[in-house]
Amino acid sequence: MSKRAGRAGGKWRTLVANQRAKRLDCAICQQPIDYRLRYPDEDSFSVDHIKPRSTHPHLAEEPTNLSSTHLRCNKARGDREVKPGLGHAVQSW
Ligand SMILES: [Zn+2]
Repeated sequence: MSKRAGRAGGKWRTLVANQRAKRLDCAICQQPIDYRLRYPDEDSFSVDHIKPRSTHPHLAEEPTNLSSTHLRCNKARGDREVKPGLGHAVQSW
């Protein structure tokens, strides 16, 4: 039942801990993050990749490519293609 391939290992956890320790505001919505909250709380801290892993896999564990976000914002942004007709994304073009 495990679908966590690609994020295994202690290195990633160390990177997350380091990023968390910076106590930064959310890089997406610019609002403060409540670092007392824990996953899967939508307002909890989440690490985002500035350059998506899908296109920049070599930067996946590069500390300068990480940013602090709300889990909610990270999900909304995503690094996957948004399926048309799903969710509340509005494309006005
Ligand atoms: Zn946010």
